[in-house]
Amino acid sequence: MKLLEYQGKRLFERVGLPVPPGELAESPEQAEEVAKRLGAPVVVKAQVAAGGRGKAGGVKLAQSPEEAGQKAEEILRLTIQGEPVRRLLITQAVEIEREYYLGITLDRSQRRPVLIFSPQGGVDIEEVARTSPESIHKTPISPLEGLHPYQVRSLLFASGVPPGEIRPLSDVVAKLYRAFTEFRAHLVEINPLAVTPSGELWALDSKFILDDDDLPQELPEGIEEVLDPLEREAQKYDLQYVKLDGEVGIIGNGAGLVMATLDLVQLVGGRPANFLDIGGGASAEQMQKALELVVSDPDVKGVFINIFGGITRCDVVAQGILAAREKLDVSVPLVVRLVGTNEEAGRRRCEAAGVVPVASMEEGAERIVQLIRA
Ligand code: GDP
Ligand code: MN
Repeated sequence: MKLLEYQGKRLFERVGLPVPPGELAESPEQAEEVAKRLGAPVVVKAQVAAGGRGKAGGVKLAQSPEEAGQKAEEILRLTIQGEPVRRLLITQAVEIEREYYLGITLDRSQRRPVLIFSPQGGVDIEEVARTSPESIHKTPISPLEGLHPYQVRSLLFASGVPPGEIRPLSDVVAKLYRAFTEFRAHLVEINPLAVTPSGELWALDSKFILDDDDLPQELPEGIEEVLDPLEREAQKYDLQYVKLDGEVGIIGNGAGLVMATLDLVQLVGGRPANFLDIGGGASAEQMQKALELVVSDPDVKGVFINIFGGITRCDVVAQGILAAREKLDVSVPLVVRLVGTNEEAGRRRCEAAGVVPVASMEEGAERIVQLIRA
């Protein structure tokens, strides 16, 4: 999951990284008000997930609150890489003497994090890599030992950073590494990391990619908007859920079975609305939650539940299905296939409640697609 700039900056603040004061605004009037509060000059910044906002006209300097309002109006009219701009971050402008690039990401081939620094920041790092690869400096980080201060010093020294900046920059690097580990990120990036004429350092932008399967406990405010609300709910119950764009809700146990079910539904002319794996040995509560989740998606016109009971018990699954139906008064058609451990007990439970299990996956896929069309 990729955070927006302002969300990433909130995480930066938690580890003590220097972030210029700023506030969100959703209209030109708000932008003007915020600019008055912060004191001009300010920078008006589109909050969209895309990078390269500067080039797309989504980052503008304003010398007065009135001008901040005007720039806000311009930027709120933009669509950047397909994403309409709805929100702005207004920050106190920083005077820039130099711009550095600083990032930490996972180097999968080396199986460890890598620290990346370039004295040519402010522009796209991919572009720097193309035009002047020699200005990009990297150092691997031992996952066991962490980042040693001497590694940072020698990296900065090799990059030609003025000696007087090595200490304050090392402090920023250490804090960024803390953010990387504490929030279990895949990538953290400050570009640009600005140096002011008086030698202060400021993180003017943030890029943060978190691990969807290992999100930090305390997420920054506003992050719900980035994560699909259903995906967020699924995580709480240890359900693997991915929203798709069709109308057939799908629940199964085991990623392979769920994928095969998606294919089968597609094959008989249906379009899956989601992938949902309840995993092995699921409880009745998980099954109930899974069904509640899927039917709460307004796109879902019917649900196919395909369970192969091994460690997962069919009677337990049936109990969850029935509990969800009772609680929610599920109005869309439901097709269930239950085979394996305690299959008979599961079927009996379902039948007693008026849900007739189908005998095979193929039959189930066809049935749900027919029911939706009817
Ligand atoms: P990006 O284009 O999406 O990476 O957005 P950034 O937040 O990195 O902003 C783009 C550029 O705007 C930066 O590289 C800076 O050159 C410039 N910029 C951002 N904040 C400030 C600021 O406070 N003062 C000045 N002078 N320029 C800024
Ligand atoms: Mn940037």
